[in-house]
Amino acid sequence: MELTNGRYSIQGVDILDVVNEFGAPLYVYDFQKMERQYKRLVNAFPDVRMKALYACKALTNINVLKHFRKMGAGLDTVSIQEVWLGLKAGFKPEDIVYTPNCVSFEEIQMAVKEGVKINIDNISILEQFGNAYGGTVPVCIRINPHILAGGNPKISTGHIDSKFGISIYQMRHLQRVIASSGILVEGLHMHTGSDILDIDVFLRGAEVLLQTAKEFPNLKSIDFGSGFKVPYKPNDASTNIEELGAKLSERVLEFIGEYGREVEIHFEPGKFMVSESGYFFVRTNVIKTTTATVFAGVDSGQNHLIRPMFYDAYHHILNVTNPQGTERFYTVVGYVCETDTFAWDRKMNEVREGDILVFRNAGAYAFSMSSNYNSRFRPAEVAIQNGKAHLIRRRENLDDLLATQMEMDI
Ligand SMILES: *Cc1c(COP(=O)(O)O)cnc(C)c1O
Repeated sequence: MELTNGRYSIQGVDILDVVNEFGAPLYVYDFQKMERQYKRLVNAFPDVRMKALYACKALTNINVLKHFRKMGAGLDTVSIQEVWLGLKAGFKPEDIVYTPNCVSFEEIQMAVKEGVKINIDNISILEQFGNAYGGTVPVCIRINPHILAGGNPKISTGHIDSKFGISIYQMRHLQRVIASSGILVEGLHMHTGSDILDIDVFLRGAEVLLQTAKEFPNLKSIDFGSGFKVPYKPNDASTNIEELGAKLSERVLEFIGEYGREVEIHFEPGKFMVSESGYFFVRTNVIKTTTATVFAGVDSGQNHLIRPMFYDAYHHILNVTNPQGTERFYTVVGYVCETDTFAWDRKMNEVREGDILVFRNAGAYAFSMSSNYNSRFRPAEVAIQNGKAHLIRRRENLDDLLATQMEMDI
């Protein structure tokens, strides 16, 4: 988003024109930014065979999925519904990886029927899988390397108490199950958390995975998961993808030399691919001064963007209608009947009732975590692509709220 002559624009498209046309609250995604992120990741690994799978739970609009398919990405899914969306978006089954956690065996069988790659993260399911398919359907195994990583306990998945993955301390048990049921293991996987800044954490996790990989002779891919940190605040640090690419590629080439056959490496970022491409626009309903603070109350809440309340996430907020206004402090809150505070004591250009504010980093885990709480409609979504604004999801209406409800005689 750029500011020229007091107006904000994306790809040359004037933002206030877009908000006026489609209304607020509104999610807007810069498709070019997604492309730049995807290419940045791919270009960081020129010397090894690397495939980037978009972890679509971050943002599942079908147009976003198609955009990643056209760029050549694969898809990382965590539910059978995401698998179906991926197939609808035109991904080939072999380009979709299904990495569920604590789902039923029936759901895994449904994914097998769709022909997608199956990632298994517990021994009980693996046993059932072996009983049902033997070596006829290859699997990928999700390992928990017990590397502590991530920006917040709620988004760290590699620790000892985590429900994700098969512990590296269970390798003997794992190998016994594989040997006795003849399961064909073609991939190893880890995903240790989100918002990991320190690339040494990745490299340590990768080392554990590569050591483990030596015990599996039929690997075609090794998946290092994701968790790349993106900048949220101005001047925030982010994962140095280029340095990671250089260091990990070197290590992977060495591994391939010892292993004796080619393996493809995978990453499956969600946040890195789409976070910064997203903007969430809201209108200011009220400025309310209390004895303690000045509230800017906006026409949205935790029903549309829950990350600040759920993860204490920081989203930078700008006043797009008054970019030259005097800077003052505001506590930005939603209209939901909960304490849905987006931000405390934020310095912003003077906010007047009616002003449009924008939350940055609203691409990942923003719309996809939205709900109808308080019976509010979910916002519309707009893509900016080729210098034009495209409506890619209309705003909901009362019929949508009632669409799945059945009336009984009262
Ligand atoms: C959520 C998830 C990701 C994506 O994580 P980000 O932090 O958004 O990059 C990748 N892999 C798996 C298995 C996930 O569950």
